[in-house]
Amino acid sequence: MKSALIAKFSQAYGRSPEIIARAPGRIEFIGNHTDYNGGTVLGAAIDRGVWVGLARREDGLRRFASDQREGIISQCADQLAKGTGQASWVNYPLGVIAAFPHFGLKAPGGFDYYAISDLPVGAGLSSSAAIELASALAFVAATGQEPDRETLVKVGKHAENNFVGVPCGILDQGVSGFGRKDHLVFIDCRGPRFDTVPLPSQAHFWIFNTHTKHALVDGLYAARHRECMEAARTLGVGLLVEVTPATLNANLAKLEPTAGKRARHVVEEIARVDEAGQALRAGNLAAVGRLLTASHRSSQHLFENSTPELDFLVDTLVAAPHVYGSRLTGGGFGGAVMALTSPDFGDVQAQAVADAYARKFGAKPDILHAQTGDGAQLCR
Ligand code: ADP
Ligand code: MG
Repeated sequence: MKSALIAKFSQAYGRSPEIIARAPGRIEFIGNHTDYNGGTVLGAAIDRGVWVGLARREDGLRRFASDQREGIISQCADQLAKGTGQASWVNYPLGVIAAFPHFGLKAPGGFDYYAISDLPVGAGLSSSAAIELASALAFVAATGQEPDRETLVKVGKHAENNFVGVPCGILDQGVSGFGRKDHLVFIDCRGPRFDTVPLPSQAHFWIFNTHTKHALVDGLYAARHRECMEAARTLGVGLLVEVTPATLNANLAKLEPTAGKRARHVVEEIARVDEAGQALRAGNLAAVGRLLTASHRSSQHLFENSTPELDFLVDTLVAAPHVYGSRLTGGGFGGAVMALTSPDFGDVQAQAVADAYARKFGAKPDILHAQTGDGAQLCR
């Protein structure tokens, strides 16, 4: 990827990049809708991501290009970073520049910028966090600043929340920033506090992206958010993270049946994140896989954020050999399913799953095979 970036950069700008930074995409491993409930989540940085090349300019011009879009977009550095007024990809790096002063960082002056990626866009792997983190690292390197990792993570989230306008939690940027090969990233969303947990290197990830999206996904997401907050209020706590499975059971009668189901999903999911951490530390991938599948069943029956397509993939995957467990990954209501497998699960098995899906739903899901990778880093 590095030599491909240098070639693209040179083609666009007639010189080489001075700085190269990369940041990975991520998989939501376990911890479904736990973030805004103050809970915990485990994510995996993967071995695919976005690479950004940068070379400074003396004339104060900022030029942006990407292998995913035609043309070069220019802006003067003496204008404050402004959005393009439309949904352009350049709002991601611009949003990062606009976030800098909020964290006491100096914005970069003029530069030539090029981004390339081996991460599918919009596949639930957070290419957006990857481009934010890679851009942030390149910009701080260009200005000789060395903020800590947590600041970079918060800069990325700030850009996405405030400049791009996507109300994502800390998972995407936290995992892209703190990822580590053969590890998962653990996030306690209340701090936030970041940690890593070892993952045996024989663990492999397979992602099946259905390209389906519920027409009402934003409204459904907001409805779940509201149901969780109302359940917390009825139970007399600020956030559902303050309720244990035992206290929830003892107080379940206070909640409407639907609110009870939503609360049970969140409270038990937070407990599952904890159990998954313990099983990982014990190197017990079979137990981890069972927790992943239990998480999906809870989505399916309690939180009701699954779909027949996602359920079919999970059912097919857990019945296949060499699969430890499988669940929907991300917000749900469509999107992607991930499976944790041993190295013996290969293309033949994955294709068989995709074929069975196509026979039922008419189109094949996209298949992506990934392993863990390192978090955002400067390459030179
Ligand atoms: P996801 O984060 O799940 O991949 P999003 O819709 O949040 O999906 O973010 C995708 C957007 O991020 C793209 O539409 C594009 O604007 C931007 N993006 C990601 N990677 C690149 C890239 N390599 N070059 C240009 N823009 C990118
Ligand atoms: Mg995104």
